[in-house]
Amino acid sequence: MTEAFLHYIWQHQMVAKTLATTDGQSVVVHRVGDLNRDAGPDFFNAHLSIDGVEWVGNIEVHLRSSDWNVHRHSQDKSYNNVILHVVYEHDCEITLENGNVPPTLELCRFIHPALVDNYDALIHPAEPDGVPCAQRLPGVPSFIVNSWLDRMTVERIEAKSQVVRRLLDESCGSWEQTCYWLMAHYFGGKVNALPFELLAKATDQRLLARWKDNPRRIEALLMGQAGMLEGYFEDDYPRQLQADYDALRTGASLTPVSSFLWKFFRIRPSAFPTIRISQFANLVASSSNLFSALLEMTDAGEMEKLLDCRAADYWDNHYRFDQPAAKSTPKRMGRTQADLLIINAWVPLLFVYGEVRGQQQYKEQAVALLQQLPPEDNTVIRQFQAVGLTPANAAQTQALLQLKSRYCNDRRCLQCSIGHNIIKQIPKD
Ligand code: SF4
Repeated sequence: MTEAFLHYIWQHQMVAKTLATTDGQSVVVHRVGDLNRDAGPDFFNAHLSIDGVEWVGNIEVHLRSSDWNVHRHSQDKSYNNVILHVVYEHDCEITLENGNVPPTLELCRFIHPALVDNYDALIHPAEPDGVPCAQRLPGVPSFIVNSWLDRMTVERIEAKSQVVRRLLDESCGSWEQTCYWLMAHYFGGKVNALPFELLAKATDQRLLARWKDNPRRIEALLMGQAGMLEGYFEDDYPRQLQADYDALRTGASLTPVSSFLWKFFRIRPSAFPTIRISQFANLVASSSNLFSALLEMTDAGEMEKLLDCRAADYWDNHYRFDQPAAKSTPKRMGRTQADLLIINAWVPLLFVYGEVRGQQQYKEQAVALLQQLPPEDNTVIRQFQAVGLTPANAAQTQALLQLKSRYCNDRRCLQCSIGHNIIKQIPKD
């Protein structure tokens, strides 16, 4: 038993139909009150009838009556308006600061034991690392699961919107620049997100726009600004890039980011920053106004084509300058990576765009895009699949990731619609 669960029980009135105080007075609840998460009584403005007399005031909830004294409420005037002390176990009489004795409701007499068992099974699951409600989840009606997942999808997008808002602030409200920085951030993947973002910020978009349709010059500028064209090279390609960068540098005030920021360890060679920068250069070359281009697209397939950009030919058989690879393969972003850019960068950006402009249709379009994309595949998604919850698209996989990381892992089952349904399932006698 926890106080949070008692709040939940009181808030949802998961109690017997007939209630009585410890001294035998009847209690009828007209309004449970507003849950207060700050200092002071737990529920404000409750409306009750106690022994036929109507009361409006506050409710304080404790595991035991004696917690009232432990928390020194007897010396605190802000508890003088408590009209009912709700406890799980009544172990002593208490008084208000003004000397009055509030009536006490002992909940253990009015709660079905199955509620406590259901809650306990969620909080102390047999397999804590998986989906904690794995055994009970299949019994939850699908309309409850699906509507909760719809909410989780939006929560997930909202959580990802924070980085969009930060960049929008830094760009003084420029959607094109925010889009350019954001795409760069996610081109870097988890490991090189920050250096990629710094690279984009150090390389003015207007400068890149001058060489639209010339991917090599754009790659020269980005590689140079990434600090990757310092020193001596054997191969012609980096030497050409170096010469281009030196020429571009003349007249423009360019400061490269430190080459030490880039990480090559523990990532697949196809995701090395060298490859990603070349792919990014191709994306920038194909569309200097990326935000406007993407805004016109409502079809995820069309976006995938634009974002599935290819690195320069040199990278077919290289992962780093001057180091030939054993095999030659074109280095495209690939559909999965393009989908990740849509999921992580474009969808939150479009959502914020709709919010800032007060145009709901863009927010709906953001969710609709996720619904067009195939479900993602990772450990968390496989855990839900193993208990029969098979996501139909990326909107649902994003929802499951949000659910697992923000609810299941923190055991926030009391704030979860699935948990609510599980807790209130009482076996028929
Ligand atoms: S938060 Fe919801 S989905 Fe997760 S374990 Fe609890 S009840 Fe299940």
